[in-house]
Amino acid sequence: MSYLSIRSLHKSYGATPIFSDIHCEIEKGEFVTLLGPSGCGKSTLLRCIAGLTEVDGGQILLDGQDLVPLSPQKRGIGMVFQSYALFPNMTVQQNVAFGLRMQKVGKDETAQRVEEVLRLVELHDYAARYPHQLSGGQRQRVALARSLVTRPRLLLLDEPLSALDARIRKHLREQIRAIQQELGLTTIFVTHDQEEALTMSDRIFLMNAGKIVQSGDAESLYTAPVDAFAAGFIGNYNLLDADAASRLLLRPVHQRIAIRPESIRLEDSGAIAAEVLGHSLLGNVIRYRVQANGVELLVDVLNRSEGSLIGKGQCIGLSIDANAIREVA
Ligand code: ADP
Repeated sequence: MSYLSIRSLHKSYGATPIFSDIHCEIEKGEFVTLLGPSGCGKSTLLRCIAGLTEVDGGQILLDGQDLVPLSPQKRGIGMVFQSYALFPNMTVQQNVAFGLRMQKVGKDETAQRVEEVLRLVELHDYAARYPHQLSGGQRQRVALARSLVTRPRLLLLDEPLSALDARIRKHLREQIRAIQQELGLTTIFVTHDQEEALTMSDRIFLMNAGKIVQSGDAESLYTAPVDAFAAGFIGNYNLLDADAASRLLLRPVHQRIAIRPESIRLEDSGAIAAEVLGHSLLGNVIRYRVQANGVELLVDVLNRSEGSLIGKGQCIGLSIDANAIREVA
């Protein structure tokens, strides 16, 4: 049996089902991300695991023990939310020590464990500060330290980076991943941000409308979406119905297809004639909007040198490798 095994989990709010029959298996030390659009049930699932929301049926087995009958305090789970929820009138040291005080851990051991964990999140020089004297990123690291200090069996992170600006978010996600690996801590991370999910996770569970629609590592989710929803949510796939696909490829296609913008090449010798409709500059990538055989497509090209831009109205050839074309349900 896996370290964490979720079986037939059901949850409704009143008459509205949020999810029914969720099954998943998570191994010890894995970093798993629940990814999906807002409202698909990610936070509810996380809160059910933590015991903050009651489930209507099913089991959550952690190391063989069913958590469902246990109170949140008895589950041995650490949780970090988007809002840091620190005690404003306590120092960093006191905030982090709070959970150990509740567990009646002795003074010396508390001091040692708080010191250790503040080093881990690189905040040992900030122990005497109050939350209002810290940046957003530092406050979130205090929140993380406060969870880690209790040595949880499972760490749950609910959009912990969403309130931070892009640069700090990137730094903190690397730091969280490094700490998680150093401690071998089984972690479930919730986000709606595909880049965060793709860069941080051992495995991603893609959710839609209360269901896990696909699970796998970043590469398999990116290159092999199981359906049109997955293709639309991860990457910037060109999704074409069978008619449009047949017109574009000049052969009969019987299913909807997905083509990644970076797997289409713009070449004079390309087999499909196309016209450039416009472009947007995404830093190191130029995203062209082109039209070929009456079908509009996005094409991503590395922005290699100045002056290489292909202007609006220019004609160009497209090459699409057969293995870049994915049929999707
Ligand atoms: P996500 O985390 O994927 O954005 P949530 O798990 O927060 O989604 O919410 C899933 C669905 O459950 C949403 O439709 C939301 O409105 C509903 N929901 C969440 N919490 C409650 C609640 N306490 N009462 C009623 N409905 C809720």
